[in-house]
Amino acid sequence: MNGGEAAGTGAVIDPLCHPVTDALGDLLATVRRIDPAGELADYIPELARVDANGFGIAATATSGHSYAAGDADRLFTIQSVSKPFVYALALEALGREAVLERVGVEPSGEPFNAISFDQIGRPANPMINAGAIVATSLIPAADAEERFAVIRAGLSAFAGRPLDLAHDVYESESATGDRNRGLAHLARASGMLGSTVADAVEPYFQQCSLLVDTGDLAMMAATLANGGEHPLTGERVVAEAVARDVLSVMASCGMYDRSGDWMFRVGMPAKSGVGGGIVAVTPGQYGIGVYSPPLDSAGNSSRGVAALQLLSAEFGLHMLDRPRESVSAVESIRTDAATGAITVEVRGEIDFVAAEQIVYAAMEAVGGDGSGTHTGTETAALVIDLGSATRATPVAARLMRAMAGDAGTRGYRISVRDPAGILVP
Ligand code: GLN
Repeated sequence: MNGGEAAGTGAVIDPLCHPVTDALGDLLATVRRIDPAGELADYIPELARVDANGFGIAATATSGHSYAAGDADRLFTIQSVSKPFVYALALEALGREAVLERVGVEPSGEPFNAISFDQIGRPANPMINAGAIVATSLIPAADAEERFAVIRAGLSAFAGRPLDLAHDVYESESATGDRNRGLAHLARASGMLGSTVADAVEPYFQQCSLLVDTGDLAMMAATLANGGEHPLTGERVVAEAVARDVLSVMASCGMYDRSGDWMFRVGMPAKSGVGGGIVAVTPGQYGIGVYSPPLDSAGNSSRGVAALQLLSAEFGLHMLDRPRESVSAVESIRTDAATGAITVEVRGEIDFVAAEQIVYAAMEAVGGDGSGTHTGTETAALVIDLGSATRATPVAARLMRAMAGDAGTRGYRISVRDPAGILVP
């Protein structure tokens, strides 16, 4: 587990006596009282043997602050929670289009081990076994051993520490993995597999057998929440566009045939595994990891699902909640009484949403339809002051340049005070 350091202040906050930690502990206690029904996975002896009572939760903010409660440092095999991260590595290595040719992004509505291929023989999505095995096969490598080495290094970079392999679990996965081999053969028959069957499934069984604790899951999820850059190590593990693509697929396909119900009730991109782990992400904010081995009938951790449902409701984390009013990009609008000159002062980072606010405020200030206080041949000055603005996205800069041009044709002298040149194309 990584402790929570307060950014900037130099003070060390003990995450163990923090109100957030207490709230997470209360959440676990509530779920234990609800006691949702679940069964341990028993397709291999290693999973049937674990302590069914283990229950932990961890949350890491994109600032790097971490909180945990319960059995958050208990190790377990990552299993299918590896899927979004390996998919991320495949996207990073091959690019979006090449990966889309081999594995789709449609929810299958089917169990994790379903024979799920579309009309052209492409697995429906990379969050179920068929698609995940294809994603693994696409990781560039000469053979199975090198492929697993690349995957292990990639997942370790997401976690920010080297992850170990549970050899006994891997042996069992491989010994009982004929259905997965069957899926790989089908994918290979339709030309979707990037390697031989063995060079796909053995690294797949190994990636499923990597050991993590709940804190690792929270950190891996926080790296996705943070646009692919690890919150503490600062390593850019995948590009921001890749992180977004992965979250998109987690949002629609992450919880097997419960994905629709999950989006409805919890509203966070997530992924579960038969080891009892679940990762969930609030983009730009938090990575969350939960662990409890008993599974519901869809193969998702039953206490984990209950905990995330409660967390989403109590902490207000559903991604489709109406966003709260954010700080306006328009700091102030002043009209000089003597000259009639208007100054629109802008602060912070100007994205599309901010630019829309600025343009609206400026148009309103000058009378956007030409019928404002200044008309005809009269000219007045409108100054957009970007002195406190930090950055403009390309679309925001385009909108603001267009506004300046537009207002000019309406007879206003628009000038932009842009000392840092952030609107320059
Ligand atoms: N190793 C398991 C399998 O491929 C992982 C499945 C899961 O976590 N749902 O069958």
